[in-house]
Amino acid sequence: MTRANSQDRDLRERAAAVIPGGMYGHQSTRLLPDDYPQFFSRAKGARLWDADGNEMLDFMCAYGPNLMGYADDAIDAAYIDRMRQGDTMTGPTGLIVELAERFTAMVTHADWAIFCKNGGDATQMALMIARAHTGRKTVILAKGAYHGAAPWCATRPVGVIREDKAHQLFCDYNDIASLEAAVAAAGDDLAAIFAAPMKHDAFTDQALPDPAYARRARELCDAAGALLLVDDVRAGLRIARDCSWSVVGVQPDLSSWGKCFANGHPISALLGSNTAKRAAAQIFTTGSFWYQAAPMAAALTTLDRVRNTDYLEHIEGLGTRLRDGLAERAAASGLGLRQTGPVTMPLFLFDDDPDLRKGFFWSSEMLRRGVYVHPWHNMFLCAAMTTADIDQALDAAEASLKALKGQVGSLGPVAKMSFLTA
Ligand code: PMP
Repeated sequence: MTRANSQDRDLRERAAAVIPGGMYGHQSTRLLPDDYPQFFSRAKGARLWDADGNEMLDFMCAYGPNLMGYADDAIDAAYIDRMRQGDTMTGPTGLIVELAERFTAMVTHADWAIFCKNGGDATQMALMIARAHTGRKTVILAKGAYHGAAPWCATRPVGVIREDKAHQLFCDYNDIASLEAAVAAAGDDLAAIFAAPMKHDAFTDQALPDPAYARRARELCDAAGALLLVDDVRAGLRIARDCSWSVVGVQPDLSSWGKCFANGHPISALLGSNTAKRAAAQIFTTGSFWYQAAPMAAALTTLDRVRNTDYLEHIEGLGTRLRDGLAERAAASGLGLRQTGPVTMPLFLFDDDPDLRKGFFWSSEMLRRGVYVHPWHNMFLCAAMTTADIDQALDAAEASLKALKGQVGSLGPVAKMSFLTA
């Protein structure tokens, strides 16, 4: 993939003048290989075209929102049809009630729903509701777990003051002793435990939840009268047609949702049980676009698909094919490759690769072969993928492993990733 005289290069130059840092947040290519495109022009199904027209099989799925396939005809038709009748208005449509009914019927613990725009809106509301419900301040989080970009949970210290992160205690994911120690340290001030449905932190192997850890979090919240949140913004609907901790038999009081339940249209949600309903009605929470009807129409169509099709079994089957096929090819190459997390949300990290030089090289080779993978963030499968797509990815992987094998002794450090080993 060359960007000589490319649209992508031109857009980057213009962006550098008018967009801080050239691009911000998780969609900046600042920490990706240099040949990764920053700008895209089109997406359909499982495929993506960059600003220069290069086609890719996309294993990032917009960092999650693409669940059923990009530009899905029926979901987008529902959105467009509703938009033409009125979208952001002086009040909501009846769709907000229908969507709350549909979503709470699907998610076992949920009795009510509040709709918002981004995952961070939902996690922030969860914090307020837990503090309103308990009259206490302290929240326990797992070290390294992502819950959004607001100051209380921002992952970089710049622009954040200590007070923004006051009253927070940390445990290690799946480590019951550290969770119990944090609860003990909270004393009589525990408002909530915020749980990631799985360990899906960047740069590190993923981990599925240990059922005993999830059960202990529930018990500790019950004993303290605190609320348990499962933050399903990223993993929601790729592990279960319910809250992701339903697979380990644990029901939270609150669950936060976003990204994919309207297949990429802008809507997120906080769901809660009756325990937290009074506090949820008392906090002040709102946003100019939170009542938008068109994303709700898209969400209803997406949730119909969730309920009535085998989309989940389909992506699980594809994910298993990818995992097994890649394991076989990596073993044949002699390169150690760790594949972690659920098969529907894989992460690939090479052994002995602290600054990701192998991962960067291999990912670039994949991209050259038309497959977009991520060297350090979990990826996502979507229901528009086919067996042929997975086989294309496996062919690309085999050739890319061969290329890596040939170069592995001579790879230089990746300067932009030096912070990992500093
Ligand atoms: N929680 C989790 C687990 C997430 O993965 C994310 C986004 N990656 C968020 C919260 C925040 O969502 P948003 O970016 O939509 O605000």
